[in-house]
Amino acid sequence: MPLHQGPAASPAEPPRRLALNPFFGEAANPVGGMTEAPPHHRLPDGPLPPASAYQLVHDELMLDGNSRLNLATFVTTWMEPQAGVLMAECTDKNMIDKDEYPRTAELERRCVAMLAQLWHAPDPASAVGCSTTGSSEACMLAGMALKRRWAKRNADRYPAARPNLIMGVNVQVCWEKFCNFWEVEARLVPMEGDRFHLDAESAAALCDENTIGVVAVLGSTFDGSYEPVAEICAALDALQERTGLDIPVHVDGASGAMVAPFIDEDLVWDFRLPRVSSINTSGHKYGLVYPGVGWALWRTSAELPEDLVFRVNYLGGDMPTFALNFSRPGAQVVAQYYTFLRLGREGYRAVQQTSRDIARGLAERIEAMGDFQLLTHGNQLPVFAFTTTPDVTSFNVFDVSRRLREQGWLVPAYTFPANREDLSVLRVVCRNGFSADLADLLIEDLNRLLPELRDQSRPFTQDEAAATSFHH
Ligand SMILES: *Cc1c(COP(=O)(O)O)cnc(C)c1O
Repeated sequence: MPLHQGPAASPAEPPRRLALNPFFGEAANPVGGMTEAPPHHRLPDGPLPPASAYQLVHDELMLDGNSRLNLATFVTTWMEPQAGVLMAECTDKNMIDKDEYPRTAELERRCVAMLAQLWHAPDPASAVGCSTTGSSEACMLAGMALKRRWAKRNADRYPAARPNLIMGVNVQVCWEKFCNFWEVEARLVPMEGDRFHLDAESAAALCDENTIGVVAVLGSTFDGSYEPVAEICAALDALQERTGLDIPVHVDGASGAMVAPFIDEDLVWDFRLPRVSSINTSGHKYGLVYPGVGWALWRTSAELPEDLVFRVNYLGGDMPTFALNFSRPGAQVVAQYYTFLRLGREGYRAVQQTSRDIARGLAERIEAMGDFQLLTHGNQLPVFAFTTTPDVTSFNVFDVSRRLREQGWLVPAYTFPANREDLSVLRVVCRNGFSADLADLLIEDLNRLLPELRDQSRPFTQDEAAATSFHH
């Protein structure tokens, strides 16, 4: 999101205005109320009829394209009409007004309880958690709790000592923000060879007495792979035995915490591991809700320092809250509860399994084309990354991304971070709503493009920044 800076036009250009269409006028008089076109970057002097204002905004937004063809995003782009109706019914409710909207507050509480059980909190009744605007806010809250706990344990040395957080270089940008905003040193484990995420040994090796925690990602936005949470915890157990350092783990399950519980039930990554002290997820990713809702949960209230908690009025008493925002929409939380109720475990399992089947099938077919090699196969998150085979010299992944965009598909291409800056990949995120039929159409389009790409004399896209739409 750019930090907007006033009018985009240069001072030399005349100020622009929106275009009027006589049809936009009130029915009886096509040009009524339309004597002047509204300006772009200045508050118009007077009002417009609602139908005209609606049409102007609606028409401009046509150029955003179709979110369903956006294979770059993890965020939900399709919900049932009933969910849309419920959300519209709740757009006027402010989530912070617990006293005024006690039923909305109750639905949030039920969602937290359901997640505590889903993630195997040892005592779901004593797990604590909250909704957020997304995983970014949830990660900020979890990171703050880690930092505060460390500061309390080290009150004799803090603030002179500088806290640090251990994670893979593949973490989502919210962790870099957390470290920047809250003045924590980010200790990033680089990629090495075919290892594209954090490994247990490197994580433990970077820990010291100023480590507030280790972040394990389920799964990585770069390639959809799950980090080995149990192995990381085991390495930290061994570290504690050796040195006495007791380092908590936060699991960033933005995507995977709503995938693994349904289709990888044997994978132990959650509160079953005693070292996991908190978990976040994005309700608006594989939680299957429109943006923005996320969740943060702590194993017990002991993991969330009481002095970070603020209280608001609720039914004559008070309710503890933990959030960066004050006001925030209630509709997404209602939609999350609706989706939990609507799908249940079986429904979520069916939806996530379908997405994974589509991802695996698509990955196999892309590999079979012969021009590409897979980094991941879509068998963890329903996400896979692939690159060109070494003998492909006439085109690169950025060309593929650009040409697919001509067909309406958004498939991002991007370069990996340290120490694999030599590697550029394409990534496909399969979500509910990206059906097997749409996957067939993507394959058809790719098959149609490939002969042209193979015929190129050299890769055309040198400006890699312009070619890609990746925001990890
Ligand atoms: C998407 C994502 C985030 C950020 O989540 P938002 O809900 O977009 O704020 C953080 N971590 C991981 C691993 C993610 O995939």
